[in-house]
Amino acid sequence: MQYRSGTPADDAPDMTTQIWHQVVRQDIECTVDNPDVLALLRHWHASRGDQPRGTLAMFHAGRWSALHPRLMLLQREGDGFVYGHYGSEIARYSQGDMTGRRVADFGGRLTAFFSDCYHDALASDQPLYTVHVSDRSQAVFTWERLILPLVDEAGGDWLLTYGHPLQMRHQLYASVLDATGDALLALRRVRDAQGADLGWMVLLVNPAFTEMFGVVSKAVVGYLAHQVLAEWGALNVDAECLLTLASRGHRAVTRVLLTSQNQLRYLDLQIRPLQDGVVVSLTDATDLHEAQTRLRHLATTDALTGLANRREFDDQLRLEVQRARRSGEPLTLVMADIDAFKLYNDHCGHAAGDDCLRQFALILKSIFARELDVVARYGGEEFAVLLPGTGVEGALNLTERMLLRLAREALPHPASPVAEVVTASFGVAVFQRQGDDEVRLLRRADTALYEAKQTGRNRVCRAR
Ligand code: GH3
Ligand code: MG
Ligand code: MG
Repeated sequence: MQYRSGTPADDAPDMTTQIWHQVVRQDIECTVDNPDVLALLRHWHASRGDQPRGTLAMFHAGRWSALHPRLMLLQREGDGFVYGHYGSEIARYSQGDMTGRRVADFGGRLTAFFSDCYHDALASDQPLYTVHVSDRSQAVFTWERLILPLVDEAGGDWLLTYGHPLQMRHQLYASVLDATGDALLALRRVRDAQGADLGWMVLLVNPAFTEMFGVVSKAVVGYLAHQVLAEWGALNVDAECLLTLASRGHRAVTRVLLTSQNQLRYLDLQIRPLQDGVVVSLTDATDLHEAQTRLRHLATTDALTGLANRREFDDQLRLEVQRARRSGEPLTLVMADIDAFKLYNDHCGHAAGDDCLRQFALILKSIFARELDVVARYGGEEFAVLLPGTGVEGALNLTERMLLRLAREALPHPASPVAEVVTASFGVAVFQRQGDDEVRLLRRADTALYEAKQTGRNRVCRAR
């Protein structure tokens, strides 16, 4: 078997001007399933005897009349070819009967390909089997064609061709619908005889849809979506579908959480216009959603302590500063730094240092425990707490409680010059609407923290 793509004259057709096609010259029998093609081919080989070609007379014998709708007979005239017979099935699928007309009149992107094939079959005295993408037919996607070179009694050149739709477009479209992993639902807006709105009638569902919703196509197609799809209400797409229908161009994309077949899923929905209706495509985004959640967590969380990381803290700080500026609500920032932590590491080892950071984080989180509070590891042994809606007094109060709590927890720090236990220093700054921004707020809290360090550690200082 030998496959070759391209025109007989040129194996690498210019795809910008020529539609895809395939030409088989050798071992056609191995390539082809169609019994008509095989029978014609056998007859051509058997009847030509030791002559290079079959004769026109052999194919006039009447035994091929059943195939007439699929046969074409062409006679060479000068450089071109004239259709002596043009099969009715071929005519029906393409542009009408071409009997008596020339191949060159066919027009379109396939004319050169056809002519080249015919010249080639005559020049080589060999049958050709071709497959080409249809240029004209709405119904046919690809044609198969057998081309047999013949000769008449006067030595004139003839060709008998057999043409047959190999793949119909509707089969192709159905296969594509079957193959897609997205669930598809085509809907039409329907009214009753009095013109009252009835809802969305299901025109089509694909296998991915029937699998996703555990329905059979027969039970939903032709019925109203809200009556046959238990999940229709939960999908909550009615309004979006109407908007898409009304505006034509509108394309909605939404993610919904849905229980279907006892499974909780995230579905990404896209709604596109269709004549008198819409197509809804549903992509199962459950895995994607989980991955996105996991990624978001990784991107915003400090791995050691599980607190917010610095990036997340900075994002939140920016948002809260904007909000405080707008609302006038108080916003307070607390910076914390463990005292003499380098010595802790040196004495107890880095792993114990990590444990200490985790313990400290837990305690911090338990003191600043309101849902709005943002507790973050700002870096190293430094922590930051943002307290929206809390004024400076409240923040100082909480920080004093934190100092007491640390004393009570009494995590041993054998090398600290400050105390026998782990202590920390704190700086508190409240956002000032006049002249403050997030950078200044941070700087002021930092300065207060520095002051707490300078004045003996294990204490809280308030920014001026
Ligand atoms: P001060 O009281 O002035 O804050 O002194 P300090 O020793 O705490 O401050 P310094 O900045 O000199 O040292 C901070 C130490 O924290 C040094 C660094 O090795 C340690 N550190 C930072 N990040 C980590 C961490 O993730 N794990 C551990 N075990 N140690 C850390
Ligand atoms: Mg420190
Ligand atoms: Mg430090």
